[in-house]
Amino acid sequence: MNDKKKGGGGGMKLPPNLLGILMFGLLVSLLLNTLVSLFSTSVVQKDISYNEFLDMVRQDKVEEVQFLSDRYVITPKEEEAADLTLTPIPSPQSIQDIMEQSSGVKSNSDNVSVQYYTGYIYDEDLLPLLNEHNVKYSTPIENKLLNAVWAVITWVMPMILIYVLFMFLMNRMSKGMGGGRGGGFMSFGQSNAKVYVEKKTGVTFDDVAGQEEAKESLMEIVDFLHKPEKYTNIGAKQPKGALLVGPPGTGKTLLAKAVAGEANVAFFSLNGSDFVEMFVGVGASRVRDLFKQANQMAPCIVFIDEVDAIGKSRDGQIGGNDEREQTLNQLLAEMDGFDSSRGVVILAATNRPEILDKALLRPGRFDRRIIVERPDLKGREDILKVHIKKVKTNSDVDLKRVALATSGAAGADLANMVNEAALRAVRFNRQEVMQEDLMEAVEVIVAGKEKKDRIMTEKEKRIVAFHEIGHALATARQKNSQPVQKITIVPRTMGALGYVMQMPEEEHYLMTKDEMLTQITISMAGRVAEEEVFNLQTTGASNDIEQATKMARNMVELYGMSEKFGMMGLSSIENKYLDGRSVTMVSQITEADADKEVAAIISSCYEKAKRIIKNDRPALEELAEFLISKETITGEEFMELLSKYPQS
Ligand code: ADP
Ligand code: MG
Ligand code: ZN
Repeated sequence: MNDKKKGGGGGMKLPPNLLGILMFGLLVSLLLNTLVSLFSTSVVQKDISYNEFLDMVRQDKVEEVQFLSDRYVITPKEEEAADLTLTPIPSPQSIQDIMEQSSGVKSNSDNVSVQYYTGYIYDEDLLPLLNEHNVKYSTPIENKLLNAVWAVITWVMPMILIYVLFMFLMNRMSKGMGGGRGGGFMSFGQSNAKVYVEKKTGVTFDDVAGQEEAKESLMEIVDFLHKPEKYTNIGAKQPKGALLVGPPGTGKTLLAKAVAGEANVAFFSLNGSDFVEMFVGVGASRVRDLFKQANQMAPCIVFIDEVDAIGKSRDGQIGGNDEREQTLNQLLAEMDGFDSSRGVVILAATNRPEILDKALLRPGRFDRRIIVERPDLKGREDILKVHIKKVKTNSDVDLKRVALATSGAAGADLANMVNEAALRAVRFNRQEVMQEDLMEAVEVIVAGKEKKDRIMTEKEKRIVAFHEIGHALATARQKNSQPVQKITIVPRTMGALGYVMQMPEEEHYLMTKDEMLTQITISMAGRVAEEEVFNLQTTGASNDIEQATKMARNMVELYGMSEKFGMMGLSSIENKYLDGRSVTMVSQITEADADKEVAAIISSCYEKAKRIIKNDRPALEELAEFLISKETITGEEFMELLSKYPQS
């Protein structure tokens, strides 16, 4: 399809059209007004001289006189009206007069009454005269507001209506023209792209917590939009674009909005997928239009969310994608073409930076990369603080503990958690959110809702209880482990039949080999307890197995913690910000060896778990019975009971 601009769109430039529409609207308004007055005039007015008026009064032909600011309006007595109207009319002066003559709406038709008017003359004798002849007189209070409203209705409304109608038609037309571009009336491209300009995003940096480094980088952009001279004077060029990179839900979109809010400039927000359409050329034209609009609105911020939808690397695809490539090329061209000193800043967000085309990342385009990581302990606490402000809380709320329990959660998870807690408080008919609501919300996010109605058999319940106590024992009996927070055998909607919740005392950024082995051993201990007590294996251990295997494999392949391979890397991580899947980099033979290594780690941990459980069999029995009777026990209850059995 031809991508050239067609001449057909030329007549749709904004200014002449606007003028035309205005003129047209005026005309229609005029017509409408005359029509309105034509049909609403049931009173015909006639101009008479002041003398005639006085004569009429003296001849007792006047019923009533109204004093207006500039004239008297005279209502004749009923019986006089008929013959008076037949008298020739003085020269017509008003529209109403002309109409009456030309249209033949004669005053002798029933629904038309006659009024006379005459100019205002100062006359001291008038009132006595009127009194003498028993004429009613009054001054109507003119309603200015009503007049104004009437004017709006009869003049402005039709024009607006016509304008809207026109816009609608034009848009229709420009869409119908298919390939023709040139943008219908204020449309964007020729389609209904979701471009929107938010004048005020209402979000500030205060609403974004736990992303101090990212905020700092963005501050500079804000500062530039505020005082560009400061930078241009010295010859410094503002980076044209910044790329926000990070896992989903960490606040990338929020940060971009905050930049706009802080800078107090217009904010164009688009999703990358808005550009990608079925028709070739549409995406490219959309990019062009976007930049055109942005240039007109400068200073402003253009935010392209999920930019990977267009910015995907151009090579390495079978078949390729013409449309996306065109769109990307257009984006590259536009980014080179515009002048950042005018105050247009492009922000983009993605959680897959590795698939972006290299050309997009070179200096002069998205040359600045702002990492928006999952928040750390302090960050999570701060984010919770931001969101907890929106709900009423009890004084027992301890956000630090919630933050400790939510390692790995992103900002969106935490926002969601606070809301879940508030919902739970409502469910319990409370006025405020309590700590237990928050902790329960954490579990809901991690494990799903409690499923109290699931009926498990006594046997199953016992197995689950021993399994969980097995985990808990392995936790308590090993160094390097995090304390037990809670043990439960109440099933959850996300599949867990029970679980042991561990709670770190502080946050670590490094994990030692010993800690990893400890964790794998804990995972093994559930199954081990089942085997020891009931001499059977159940499907309940599947999640434990998955976790343990993943960790063992990472030890071997990523962290250089195996005897055999030492510090050789066997795989690399792809999609760091999404699923963190790793891909192998070695031959199949080496891979087979690595598998053996993984199996060895797991089996040694399994043996260790077995020793722990065997040694603590009496404690296992008592604790499991206790758990069965209570269904949920706290870490303290667990440790208190366990203290009766000293570590052997
Ligand atoms: P992303 O674009 O990175 O996927 P969003 O910016 O859309 O994530 O975040 C979704 C929601 O999560 C936000 O609207 C906000 O309520 C909450 N949120 C995320 N990160 C933060 C943060 N750092 N501070 C406060 N709230 C946050
Ligand atoms: Mg987003
Ligand atoms: Zn388990």
